[in-house]
Amino acid sequence: MKKIKTINPFNGKLIAEYEQHSKKEISQILDKAQVTFEEWKKEEISERVALLNNLSDLLIRKKAELAQLITTEMGKPIKQSVAEIEKCSSVCEFYAINADDFLSDELIDTEAQESFISYDPLGCILAIMPWNFPFWQVFRFAAPTLTAGNTAILKHASNTTGCALAIQDLFIEAGYPEGCFQTVLTDHKSIEKIIENDIIKAVTLTGSEKAGRKIAAIAGQNLKKTVLELGGNNACIIWEDADLKTYIDTMVNARMLNAGQSCIAAKRFIVVDAIYDEFLKQFTAKIKTLRSGDPMETSTDIATMARPDLAKKVQEQVNESLIKGATIHIGNTCDSASYEPTIITNVIAGMPLFDEEIFGPVAAIISVKDRAESIAVASTTNFGLGTMLFTEDIDAARMEIENINDGSFFINEMTKSDARLPFGGTKISGYGRELSKEGMLAFVNEKTIYIK
Ligand code: NAP
Repeated sequence: MKKIKTINPFNGKLIAEYEQHSKKEISQILDKAQVTFEEWKKEEISERVALLNNLSDLLIRKKAELAQLITTEMGKPIKQSVAEIEKCSSVCEFYAINADDFLSDELIDTEAQESFISYDPLGCILAIMPWNFPFWQVFRFAAPTLTAGNTAILKHASNTTGCALAIQDLFIEAGYPEGCFQTVLTDHKSIEKIIENDIIKAVTLTGSEKAGRKIAAIAGQNLKKTVLELGGNNACIIWEDADLKTYIDTMVNARMLNAGQSCIAAKRFIVVDAIYDEFLKQFTAKIKTLRSGDPMETSTDIATMARPDLAKKVQEQVNESLIKGATIHIGNTCDSASYEPTIITNVIAGMPLFDEEIFGPVAAIISVKDRAESIAVASTTNFGLGTMLFTEDIDAARMEIENINDGSFFINEMTKSDARLPFGGTKISGYGRELSKEGMLAFVNEKTIYIK
């Protein structure tokens, strides 16, 4: 069977090779998930919460080692990897505090003597996850889903297989029963078979639109629920009264964090003419201050993309946009997996830089004459993860809430996930919600009880 290889994208060196699980091993993993579920669902919530607290503490104790693993496998600057682990710990803390409240029976007043909703776990949930936040994407799903009484099987991105196995080990070390959280090492073909298996009750995917269509089709054939967290093409609108002095760092971060490899990154900067020159001047100056280098150095702001093929794809999207009339403002050199922070101006609809998700450190700048045009241009996309708007006119910004058809609308802040707020998209960015109470109820049976 083909082995899974992980390669450090910064130096191109082989990190490790992993045997894929055999059919027999996959069958054992599934059986173990089911057997464990039968016991796990009976545990008191307080017991599940105690383990979640252990997990939260363990993440903090091991954060240096875990952050190094992330950086080695996918090239994220080490300080961002540390922040990722801390965020995982805090999502565990959030659900440890709120699980009891979120999962308690909800009394509903009817003609019955007593009627209420009880939140029952579904069983084993399959999670298919990407490499860009290899711990966070898994924890934001696993913390609420396991605490609700489900078990989980993770199929992680192949280039972060070391992270996948480390996460499995963390659950064991925190004291979870062995079949609660398991990692499966396998290919796409066998994932189809796993989705079809009766033990799998639902599927969550964080990944590309292409994978979303494929996974949802198989799950749909088998009448299994899916949550899909897919790609984005977020607009970052800058009105003429935006406070650039205060927010220019946020705008740069919104695009360049994780070398631009974030679903919720600001991908299209839509700038009103009256502030265009000043914005471009300040934005360019800030981007030039980003320190490139070895991702293991704490001073590094931007290092490498996660794989050479991903950088090549970005280059193709930029080149096609240039042929269609876009202009290089700064940057645009690419060497293996490294892509220089880049600004491209004169971007319009019909170019890949406008129409497609650009998963790398390339800011597309679009100029518009006024506020009305900015909102219209921002909405010209099939994606629907989030929109950002920078303005001092909060009353006018509020008037736009009903015009934004995305999963989120951030005013004077970059789109970001927060355990307290629901997270997810509309249109081809997917459906379903993670985090907050909604995320905890994503994989439960909301059962009606009626006692006459
Ligand atoms: P991807 O190629 O879709 O892969 C994501 C996961 O799906 C990986 O584990 C991959 O496994 C697996 N996969 C892909 N096709 C599959 C198939 N046909 N059958 C079974 N498994 C399949 O996406 P990516 O390049 O890793 O991640 C980048 C994408 O994720 C971007 O579009 C980004 O916007 C999106 N994303 C969305 C969110 C969100 O919250 N909405 C968050 C982060 C990322 P292999 O690695 O083995 O191919």
